[in-house]
Amino acid sequence: MKLLVDLHTHTVASGHAYCTVNELVEKAHQLSLEAIAITDHGPGLPNGPHIFHFSNQERFKTIPGNCVVLSGVEEDINGPKGEVFLPENTLSSLEIVLIGLHPYPDGWAYTNSKEIVLKSLLTAMENPLIKGVTHPVNNWFDFNSGEIKKIVKNARATGTAVELNLSKITGLEKRLFEFLDLAAEFNAPLMINSDAHAVHELGDFKSLDMFENKIIPENVVNKNYETVKSFFGINR
Ligand SMILES: [Zn+2]
Ligand SMILES: [Zn+2]
Repeated sequence: MKLLVDLHTHTVASGHAYCTVNELVEKAHQLSLEAIAITDHGPGLPNGPHIFHFSNQERFKTIPGNCVVLSGVEEDINGPKGEVFLPENTLSSLEIVLIGLHPYPDGWAYTNSKEIVLKSLLTAMENPLIKGVTHPVNNWFDFNSGEIKKIVKNARATGTAVELNLSKITGLEKRLFEFLDLAAEFNAPLMINSDAHAVHELGDFKSLDMFENKIIPENVVNKNYETVKSFFGINR
């Protein structure tokens, strides 16, 4: 499967990533990607950017070249009812709003039980402004197959894409196979992203080979810019 859009990338603004927007754009052109989304961590993650980093992304629209640069964020859960850090008006100004769970001291998700966190994540997916869940299979929140099933069923019901994150595979292979089987069974919208934190990682979809026979191509939302536009409701 050829993917022409990478919907999950980080820049130096995330504090623990090492590339600039311009470096990502240059690499995207080399790879002939049709679009990339800049999805730095939200302001709640330690070292995360200030809210102005997100409210100013309108100017991505005028970045020259053939690769569309989409504004975005990878937010974190910040309360029991699907709360996130950015206010609604900022979220609605962004084109790609993703949500993920990350481990950090004093973070709401990391200091609450898995059951409470899952409930909040499912609620966040009902928020029409949030259109994707990053790495539902990860090393930090050990969701079992019943819990992953709830996430993929909710992805289908709410029109939220769940992610196969190609930077988080090692040691998770079995759980990822199971996740993809469930995603296929329930026809959950799927996005497949690099989660690049350094420029060489952008658009690196090589490890997708091992998962390809588990994936229904029609369910993949980031095959190309047209499929992204239609799934995320983007008009440009
Ligand atoms: Zn993440
Ligand atoms: Zn990320």
